Amino acid sequence: MTSAPDGPPGAALGSLELAALRARQRAQQIEEELARDPSRFRVLTGERPTGPLHLGHLFGTVENRVRLQRSGVDTLLVVADYQVITDRDVAGDVRGAVREVVLDYLAAGLDPELTTIFTHSAVPALHQLLLPFLSLVTVAELDRNPTVKAELAATGGRALTGLLLTYPVHQAADILFCRANLVPVGRDQLPHLETTRTIARRFNQRYAGAEPFFPEPDALLSTAPVVLGTDGAKMSKSAGNAIALGADTDTTVRAIRSARTDGDRHITYEPQRRPEVANLLLLTGLCTGRTPQEVAEDIGGRGAGVLKSLLADALLDYLAPLRARRAELAADPQVVHDVLTRGNARANELADETIREVRRLMRMLL
Ligand code: ATP
Ligand code: MG
Repeated sequence: MTSAPDGPPGAALGSLELAALRARQRAQQIEEELARDPSRFRVLTGERPTGPLHLGHLFGTVENRVRLQRSGVDTLLVVADYQVITDRDVAGDVRGAVREVVLDYLAAGLDPELTTIFTHSAVPALHQLLLPFLSLVTVAELDRNPTVKAELAATGGRALTGLLLTYPVHQAADILFCRANLVPVGRDQLPHLETTRTIARRFNQRYAGAEPFFPEPDALLSTAPVVLGTDGAKMSKSAGNAIALGADTDTTVRAIRSARTDGDRHITYEPQRRPEVANLLLLTGLCTGRTPQEVAEDIGGRGAGVLKSLLADALLDYLAPLRARRAELAADPQVVHDVLTRGNARANELADETIREVRRLMRMLL
């Protein structure tokens, strides 16, 4: 591959900072457009079934999805089962992990009457989009993706597979198969979304003529775009630093007590200088409807121990209805199967329609 289709390689894919800046600038406009006409939007987002969902998911993206779903936005969620093997050889019990993720969705308020929930591997036409999409990016562009680099680093010295390198292209297929234009995600996903925007733009330029076929989707960040785990790094299913939505009381309290803080007893909200303390304050604020600054002022010189007990109480209260609902749903062996059967059928209809249009635009239809 020698050059990018619409300019020199490197010119098109922006940095994480630029993408975060644009997402922040667009946020207000998106909210206004959403209030005016939610039917203009289609949401696609999702998770890899690599473990149960955690607080990073809830506050980083899931609560935004519930809000969008309730305001009438057509919402689709992919449980990206093929992407489990991007950074590991052994997929493990994928079916069990998919079930956990779907239970978490339902318990958090995602309603299968309003939201389409499907598994990646059940929608073959979605993956067919990878072929034209792969031709629209260079290896040099993929090589620069900071999230792929971080995920590779987290594997502890594994070689970079073709699947991990092309993960952002796969994600472009996940988003564009249903022509979604809004993607509620955590900040780690912004570089991937840049790739999706680039692919959509280049496909349109190359094949679509005057009328763009694919939208260039916007990211929608929450007020907690990077929730930190107990070790101070990004909370992540694979890092052993997460507080799962479905965890029991003891595990939750123990995890909060073990969370890293700093040596300064006086509690202040300073996300740059004191990220771990700021994270605990933010979580407490989110659970109690207060700002992190207010929580910090309440605690003052009483130290991180008091902050942690406040968070534990607030979080247990906040999650109690979700956890009760989750336990009820988990007792029904049929519920996840039914949700996915229905979701997979709709996702297949949309994907078949899109790949047919793509083939028509590429002049491949008979
Ligand atoms: P893994 O360790 O397997 O990559 P993960 O915990 O990073 O799992 P993903 O399935 O990769 O979770 O992410 C799903 C969605 O949740 C993405 O939109 C991602 O940005 C968001 N998300 C995940 N972790 C956090 C977090 N700590 N803070 C905010 N958003 C998050
Ligand atoms: Mg991840």
